[in-house]
Amino acid sequence: MSETIRAAVCRDFNAPLVIEAVTLADPGPGEVKVAVKACAICHSDIIYAEGGWGGTLPMVLGHEAAGVVEQVGPGVAGVEPGDHVVVTLIRSCGTCHYCSGGHQVLCEEVFPLDRQSPIAGAGGEALVHGLRTGAFAEKVVVEKSQVAVIPKEIAFDAASLLACGVITGFGAVTNTAQIHPGCHVAVIGCGGVGLNAVQGALASGAQTIIAIDLSNDKLAAAKRFGATHGINAGAPDHREQLMALTGGRGVDFVFVSVGVKPAIDSAAQYITKAGSIVIVGMPPSGVMGEYDPGTLAGWSQRIIGSKMGSAQVARDIPYLVTLYQEGRLKLDELVTGRFALDDINEAIASTKRGEALRNVIVFD
Ligand SMILES: [Zn+2]
Ligand SMILES: [Zn+2]
Repeated sequence: MSETIRAAVCRDFNAPLVIEAVTLADPGPGEVKVAVKACAICHSDIIYAEGGWGGTLPMVLGHEAAGVVEQVGPGVAGVEPGDHVVVTLIRSCGTCHYCSGGHQVLCEEVFPLDRQSPIAGAGGEALVHGLRTGAFAEKVVVEKSQVAVIPKEIAFDAASLLACGVITGFGAVTNTAQIHPGCHVAVIGCGGVGLNAVQGALASGAQTIIAIDLSNDKLAAAKRFGATHGINAGAPDHREQLMALTGGRGVDFVFVSVGVKPAIDSAAQYITKAGSIVIVGMPPSGVMGEYDPGTLAGWSQRIIGSKMGSAQVARDIPYLVTLYQEGRLKLDELVTGRFALDDINEAIASTKRGEALRNVIVFD
């Protein structure tokens, strides 16, 4: 069985998405169908749509979503129709080598949805289930591990951000780097992910949280989210400003939230001896970073990769919801613009222009 829904389809790289009627399969064993109420636009969607990571087309993108469970397949426990959920791209079995070690984001299991996309075009051709979610659509079918139930009183647009931008930034600080109270932190890039690294640093008791960006507007936003200082990366004395704030030594951790080479290469100059660079933002394929291995070894420094904030969906989403409800995590303030599915190309263009913290596609 399947039903017809509307979706934004990527048919050509670097071309506008096309709103089409597509068919969505019913959920199979262990799968869940969710009526999407909100789906934020993440830079990963844009990199895919531009061909930055290759891949096969046509594809339905969108992976930062929230909605209402409509149907569950056989063998699904703990989620039922009517539940409000966050929908993530993290599909995990819970028992493989990596899941057993707490690395659900690296799960190596191959699921039925990995072999067969649940979405097809009107002519019957398979459409790639982009980022394992395909949420630029009225409904999705995902594996049960990809959803986390949330309280019904939380607005869908705010909740959708938890699926990717929030866990990626916040979790990089709290899960991947596990920073210690009193440390000095810098965050390079203050968009949707970077601001959540700032929030993670605040929640972890960092002493100094230095936001670094080329936009003074983004630096002002970072201060609203908990940054203690902002430094414009374009200032000739940007490094001296940071050193002056950290006793001349540099920060213990620098989080690089944007996947662009100048930001990645700039990180090493800011860290202290025994400090760490944490790579959070995903660059397009082929981007190479440069560092000085002699300094890295001589100063006992580390470079750490952080995928999706090393998130464990079942643990982290409820935790972040609690922080939000207690007023200790900002979500509503991250939502810059709300757009209908028909206006998705405008929402993407706005995101690419750097205007938004997060633009969200909302559904009635
Ligand atoms: Zn994302
Ligand atoms: Zn696994």
